[in-house]
Amino acid sequence: MNAETQVLFVSNSAADELVLNTLLARDPDGGTLVTAVADAQAFYDAVYSERHFHIIIVDDRQGWSDWKTVVTACARQRPNALLLLLVAEEIAAQQVPVLAAEVAAVYPRNSAGLVAMSRLIRQVSARDRNFSLHRDHPKAGTDESAVQDQQRLVYSVSHDLQDPLQLARRYAEVLHDDFAGELGEPGAKVLGHLQFNLNRTQEMLDELLDYSRLQSSSPDRRPVDLNELLDEVSKIYKLTLQEIGGSITRANVLPVLAVDRRQFLRLFQNLIGNAIKFRGEQPLHITVRAQKVRDEWRIGIKDNGIGIVEEDAQRIFGMFERAASADGYPGSGMGLAICKRIVQNHNGKIWVRSTPGNGSVFIFSIPQAEQAAEVMTA
Ligand code: ADP
Repeated sequence: MNAETQVLFVSNSAADELVLNTLLARDPDGGTLVTAVADAQAFYDAVYSERHFHIIIVDDRQGWSDWKTVVTACARQRPNALLLLLVAEEIAAQQVPVLAAEVAAVYPRNSAGLVAMSRLIRQVSARDRNFSLHRDHPKAGTDESAVQDQQRLVYSVSHDLQDPLQLARRYAEVLHDDFAGELGEPGAKVLGHLQFNLNRTQEMLDELLDYSRLQSSSPDRRPVDLNELLDEVSKIYKLTLQEIGGSITRANVLPVLAVDRRQFLRLFQNLIGNAIKFRGEQPLHITVRAQKVRDEWRIGIKDNGIGIVEEDAQRIFGMFERAASADGYPGSGMGLAICKRIVQNHNGKIWVRSTPGNGSVFIFSIPQAEQAAEVMTA
């Protein structure tokens, strides 16, 4: 078999093709070639050609045919290819297991979908090169290199997409500033949507880049008084809390820990920001509590907001993951992934306990060495 994994991408979205290529381009082992086809001629040329395709991705928005016809043609001509379907976010969110029997997996047409799909392609690609990818029994060293792969991937996506995205934003600005009169009302509306989505993409990329930087930097640990840190975060949210009638209470004195101050400020800010964002109907009460358990400190941030169902409790710490209950609330799903990364940078763990409708408590643990304990009692 050809060592290179051949992917046929049936889509007329140049942006998605660019993202997919960027996601796959930095695979340290190389080995994935994406052929994009955007019209009927190119599609039929490809599926009837001599070329071997391991994976076929079909975007369900084809200008020249309906996706079922495309999928049926692929299944008939390429029965051995893995068939993936890209659909609108709302359809993917319904979690319909399979939209057509021939389709192996369905992904939302957004950055999270493309990242997840590229992950699968990389796995298939690695499997074709006879690497062992048994998840249950990873070989020694496999985990480490998978982590490095992921770090490189995150960096390359967030870094390499900045330039084309900024260019697109600049073009949209030019359209807005210099051609507004010519666009008319419907054109201006479309441009508004375009600018909104470009800005959202920029925010997501910035968060991804932040995440990537947190992955590669070791924390600058110094004694940090968490009481002062909490006061600082409370100040940041003071006006919002006044507006919504919410409060932040410290249940007991928080410790002084040897941690990276900037990272911990971010951690507290993300967790308290989420408690505010996902508040319920009743007045918001946030309580922060510290507890020493053997050689680690546990800090809990409790709210009385909308809560999270058990099935989502682990998933939400992944990149771009959001609970179904977050529909209608702004956000990209990177905040908790960043929190998890910060806590892991300090050799700790983070988890959530929640009762839907009754609030959540996000708890993180930080192991503390003797030295830090001395600072605490000083
Ligand atoms: P974002 O806030 O941008 O959606 P996060 O990564 O910070 O992303 O959070 C991931 C998801 O976890 C949120 O979309 C939401 O579903 C859930 N979540 C986080 N914090 C809370 C909270 N305090 N109460 C309820 N749900 C929460």
